[in-house]
Amino acid sequence: MRIIDLRSDTVTLPPPGMREAILTAPLGDDVYGEDPTVRELEELAAEVTGKEAALLVASGTMGNLVSVLTHCGRGDEVILGDQCHTFLYEAGGISALGGIHPHPVRNEPDGTIPLEAIAAAIRPENIHFPRTRLICLENTHNRCWGSPLAPEYTREVVHLARRHGLAVHLDGARIFNAAVALGVEVEELTAGVDSVTFCLSKGLAAPVGSVICGERGFIEEARRIRKQVGGGMRQAGIIAACGIYALKHMVARIAEDHENAQLLARGIANVDGLYTEPERVRTNILYFELERGDPAEFHELCRKRGLLFHRTGERRFRLVTHYGITRPDIDYALGILAEAAKGT
Ligand SMILES: *Cc1c(COP(=O)(O)O)cnc(C)c1O
Repeated sequence: MRIIDLRSDTVTLPPPGMREAILTAPLGDDVYGEDPTVRELEELAAEVTGKEAALLVASGTMGNLVSVLTHCGRGDEVILGDQCHTFLYEAGGISALGGIHPHPVRNEPDGTIPLEAIAAAIRPENIHFPRTRLICLENTHNRCWGSPLAPEYTREVVHLARRHGLAVHLDGARIFNAAVALGVEVEELTAGVDSVTFCLSKGLAAPVGSVICGERGFIEEARRIRKQVGGGMRQAGIIAACGIYALKHMVARIAEDHENAQLLARGIANVDGLYTEPERVRTNILYFELERGDPAEFHELCRKRGLLFHRTGERRFRLVTHYGITRPDIDYALGILAEAAKGT
């Protein structure tokens, strides 16, 4: 059966060139700092994000965890969006492993947190309060329709943070989607932030890995914390080789995923019984609702026909386009959605 998997861009499989890169990658023990391929990836990642240094980690979750643990001590507070990945989908790691107190502030539909709301969340010095240390942003914003944060917004948050002596961490799991959608360099989106994490294993199609980028001193400390959480890897050049290939060959084609997401949204908007807002689709993530009928049955009908996606609310579903999904796949998916919407 033909399967169209729109659950996430994490399902992407490495392209042939990426697999070949593994075979010839020079390797060494990266915990000893002796894997040349890892070093090359880290240098490349630092350059792309405009930071001094970088650190390869196992996942985006580990990247955010290690970054927050490096910025904060026990009892310190992090201001973050109430819809953000770190708050919702990282198993409470910053609290469980770092004793760090999350202070969620409402995300706007475009993934921003209003500056006034951030300012109001910053604690004054008082023996009763936790100490605010860090502000976290997410770009693109997963739960907010893959919305990209504009460089101007990020800069304003950085300025606000500076005025209060706070650090800023950017969860840039899909920062390349943001850069491609906005037509800017990644560097413009990371300017001023103290740390940024991005994923190699999503739209960039690498099998494993994320990278943290920041100042040299920060990355040195993060390297220690990575070891502490069991993330020191040995011949990790196997992974890094894929990451280098991803950064060199997989970024520009992301535009195709965004076009496909647009096509999908416009198609869904024309299906009787389904509701979406195509104008909200800026990158590769979209949501839609089933207006009538049984959502579980609708979901199951689609699955049986080979169309996979996540249900994210009572009547709400998420679709993610990615490498390996073609335009004909989008038409095929729309056919299944229309039939399932009729059949429930
Ligand atoms: C996917 C994702 C992560 C990290 O996920 P891993 O599966 O741990 O790599 C972090 N932030 C956002 C916004 C994500 O979408």
